[in-house]
Amino acid sequence: MTGAELAHQISQRYGTTDATEIAQRAGVVVRYERWHPVTMGEYHKKDRTICINLAAPLEPTQVLAHELAHYFIHEAGILLPRQEEEKLADSFARTLLAG
Ligand SMILES: [Zn+2]
Repeated sequence: MTGAELAHQISQRYGTTDATEIAQRAGVVVRYERWHPVTMGEYHKKDRTICINLAAPLEPTQVLAHELAHYFIHEAGILLPRQEEEKLADSFARTLLAG
């Protein structure tokens, strides 16, 4: 599955490409915080929480879309090497944000 395919599947399932709305409806908690930007955002599998780093040099919605991809990748049971998962998450985010 490509990131674009996953994004199309998810936007069809929720009837929107709005990352915030998708997160809400998927029951994912989104927290906005600030920390030294080593990471742009984080997805915590255990408590279904995405933390967005407002100090990161990226739009919060871009970070949210990327972290949401990690959520849906895990939900779908897709296991990938880290780098491939990151690439898939980036292409998911690009597709979702393109509407
Ligand atoms: Zn990532």
